[in-house]
Amino acid sequence: MAYLSYDIKPNKVKKIKTKYREIKTAIPNPKSVQVLKDLRKYEPRAMGGQPPIVWHKARNFNVWDEYGNKWIDFSSGVLVANVGHLREEVKQEMLKQIKQGLIHNYCFPNVQRARLVKKLVSMAPKGIEKAFLLTTGSEAVECAIKLARTYGQMIGGKKKIGILGFNSAFHGRTLGSQMAGGIPGLKTWIVNVDKSFYQIPYPDGYFNKNTGFENFKKELKKRKIKPNMIAGFMMESYQGGIAAFADKEYIRGVRAWCKKNKIIFIDDEVQAGFGRTGKLFSIEHYGITPDIICCGKGLSGGLPISAVLGPSKIMDIYGPGEMTSTHSGNPLVSRTAVKSLELIQKEKLVARSARLGMILHGELNKLKDQYSDIIGVVNGKGLLVGVLFRKAGTENEPDGNIAFKIVKKCIEKGLMLYAPLGAGGATIKMNPPLIIEEAALREGISIFKEALEEAVNESK
Ligand code: PMP
Repeated sequence: MAYLSYDIKPNKVKKIKTKYREIKTAIPNPKSVQVLKDLRKYEPRAMGGQPPIVWHKARNFNVWDEYGNKWIDFSSGVLVANVGHLREEVKQEMLKQIKQGLIHNYCFPNVQRARLVKKLVSMAPKGIEKAFLLTTGSEAVECAIKLARTYGQMIGGKKKIGILGFNSAFHGRTLGSQMAGGIPGLKTWIVNVDKSFYQIPYPDGYFNKNTGFENFKKELKKRKIKPNMIAGFMMESYQGGIAAFADKEYIRGVRAWCKKNKIIFIDDEVQAGFGRTGKLFSIEHYGITPDIICCGKGLSGGLPISAVLGPSKIMDIYGPGEMTSTHSGNPLVSRTAVKSLELIQKEKLVARSARLGMILHGELNKLKDQYSDIIGVVNGKGLLVGVLFRKAGTENEPDGNIAFKIVKKCIEKGLMLYAPLGAGGATIKMNPPLIIEEAALREGISIFKEALEEAVNESK
């Protein structure tokens, strides 16, 4: 579906000032409209999906425009700023690296890259021996597909190349990652999608109630999929679009099936990793260990970096110079990523995410009880929540209009949220930096409640 797009016309709104937020001008500020117009004129339309606030500064859990308006950030810049935006400690590391005089050196050795791969391996689950650094999440996914397909052929011949995943999965926007993804609308441009990419229904329990492991076997049978055709199984540890986790026993069954059939279990943690859901890697919620992990977003706390983690027998398939990327292990980015990981450990941000997540989920579930006609489900764990709106009187028909309206109101009240996601654009995701103060979290939740009440009253 085409997503709704936000108007860039300034709207006079109520002035607000608290410890954590301030709205003192029209939103967006009239002086920022020219920037918005330039972006709309010179960029592809596809870039225009987010609320029209021109970010000027972002520190810790706040975002500012240039005109003194200040938001509590519930977006983390799409789940990147887990340790907070431009944390002072992270900023100091960036400055030190610049002062040292090295900000790029391709795949020539550098100390910061060595520190980061060592750190990542030390934090990863059992069996992970190597880390390969890239720039974007999609690249990490592409690399994982390539490694699984190559390994599959090494052990099972030319037939063992299939990548099995889930309907509604999102793994990125490049050719391979979109073929592995399970959102049909994103793949129509490909036309001849590689027939060795398979997707089966995601056992979320809301859109698909058949969550028993026997359904996995049934789906394979229906599609005539045999284990000797499959090189890798790939899943997001929760589905990003609606923040939904899968049935635990189902996924444990799939893990065992992969092990039995020598299929690489690829865990796409690009969105979920580094404490977001109250576990370091959110696949831990299922009590399993994957073979390969794809990381991105929250890894560096701001600068672009991604990683593929895996065992030597897979990671070392390719020889020197055969698996590289221009910006792999950039020293400036690697150094900030190490600091970011150190902060996650030192400040116990994983446990903090779990603790504050109880408040977030508790409050939003109360709201769901109150508005059960329009809130279909509250998904997520830890400091990740997805509130899915449905049309009143339907079981699960998404309502993107109300979600869109609520986000607009939140922005005008000083709560930064990104545009609604998922099927029908009906899921509002909230995922503040893991360092958010409890009082700011509670204030953000109360803004969301207020916006929801107003949107409901206006639609009466
Ligand atoms: N995998 C998942 C689960 C994601 O959420 C995303 C990005 N939203 C990607 C892969 C792609 O990452 P990137 O946008 O950095 O290419």
